[in-house]
Amino acid sequence: MKTTRRDFIKTVGLGTTALAVPGLMTFGCLKKTRPNIIFIMSDDHAEQAISCYGSKLIKTPAIDRIASEGIRFENSFVTNSICGPSRATLLTGKYGHLNGFRDHRDTFDGSQVTFPKLLQGAGYQTAIVGKWHLKSDPTGFDSWNILKGQGQYYNPTFIEEGNEHQYVGYTTDLITDKAIQVMDNMDRTKPFCMLIHHKAPHRNWMPNLKHLDAFSDEEFPLPETFYDDYSGRKAASEADMRIDDMYLSFDLKLQPGSYDHETGTGGKASYAKTVVKTWENTYNRLTAEQKTAWDAHYDKLNQEFKALDLTGDELLRWKYQNYLKDYLKCILSVDENVGRVLDYLDDRGLTENTIVVYTSDQGFYLGEHGWYDKRFMYEESLGMPLVMRYPQEIQATQVSQDLVMNLDFASTFLDFAGVTIPEEMQGASLRSIVKGQTVDDWRQVIYYHYYENERGWHNVRGHYGIRTKRYKLIHFFRDDEWELFDLEQDPNEMNNVYTDSNYTQTLFGLKQKLQDLRERYKDTNNE
Ligand code: CA
Repeated sequence: MKTTRRDFIKTVGLGTTALAVPGLMTFGCLKKTRPNIIFIMSDDHAEQAISCYGSKLIKTPAIDRIASEGIRFENSFVTNSICGPSRATLLTGKYGHLNGFRDHRDTFDGSQVTFPKLLQGAGYQTAIVGKWHLKSDPTGFDSWNILKGQGQYYNPTFIEEGNEHQYVGYTTDLITDKAIQVMDNMDRTKPFCMLIHHKAPHRNWMPNLKHLDAFSDEEFPLPETFYDDYSGRKAASEADMRIDDMYLSFDLKLQPGSYDHETGTGGKASYAKTVVKTWENTYNRLTAEQKTAWDAHYDKLNQEFKALDLTGDELLRWKYQNYLKDYLKCILSVDENVGRVLDYLDDRGLTENTIVVYTSDQGFYLGEHGWYDKRFMYEESLGMPLVMRYPQEIQATQVSQDLVMNLDFASTFLDFAGVTIPEEMQGASLRSIVKGQTVDDWRQVIYYHYYENERGWHNVRGHYGIRTKRYKLIHFFRDDEWELFDLEQDPNEMNNVYTDSNYTQTLFGLKQKLQDLRERYKDTNNE
């Protein structure tokens, strides 16, 4: 029978073991164990593809285990639904206009205050492995090993504290291998904070070889809003992220010869040539052995596609089915590797005293509104999955409806570590919520700001807005276009009621709230 740390402390008593028990710190005459923190974040993992969120598409037993042994958040949101800005907010607990990383043209200023730095200063061992994507080198970490740039699914190049190495293997597995290795080498007398940041399931959704044949016989149902005509929503109608716009080469992994011309416009049609080349380079990263296994699966798909000679709606639905299959196969690896981390904690007797978080840098469209990608303040990409386990403070099987944000992570971890939360951090600690307590003055509305616009890929106009439990108000500021949704009546956000006179009073109140929040968060620039 395993003895947990809690049992150990109970049995031997605190007084005589202070030096032997990891992470003990002294608060006056009281001694308290500081928890380890493992923060696992994937990239673009939609709630629709997690079984504890009710997914009908896939089973994710390891992520579900965190939820069932801890808490799952139903209403968790990002400040800005795009990779780099979400990461900058995670580290700083601040919106992009204050941490300086608003879109991918920015470079993260590593001299500013971040939660890993504060934990490091308080005696935590801090480490990050995986996707970073903030241009500047990580700061505040005793150990860092990040993917170069956006990262590759196969045989990725890592930058380990400034030195580049390429490794053979599948990135989701490699990231976990390295994270476990780092944790294994840590000093067990001190607490640690380990950030494990996966590249998967980011575009272009390349599965692990062992999962290539998964979902082969599945026919996924089309989402209700698959054929959205975007009426009443100008920015949505202009966006360039429809499944129709996907590239046969890069996105769907077809080889030249199996199609007559590239169909994608994800970005601009003129990018097609570059994209075909990018796909060729990506494929050519595979070793000869990897290519053999890869081709055994995709050659069949190429032949089938050629024989079918699809056009119009049939082609669209073929793209949807194959997009979903590749995306979900990538999730199989993410979930397996979350499971490996949980098993590691069990094996080392670390489960009781470790906070484990699983989340994603934002949500994603899996065919809803006819889309892939993110960026918009609509539900699928505004939401982020969030489950959290910490046996010492979080009771099992909780589900929270509170409005929480990626803005809250920094304050939460500092709170658990007993470190003073700087005034300048804009989030709030989730500690009371995860303990099952009702927080009377908890936020009733969240604020969002997306900057990238027509200058970037996907042609999504910049916008900001607010969401309460029932309503969402969005302002596309460049064109001064407004959208209002009643999420109770219209959870799929198909009906913009901004000009509906039944909502005049509601709209008045929401506009006031939006103004208040922009002032509170010091975000008064109209850009
Ligand atoms: Ca992302």
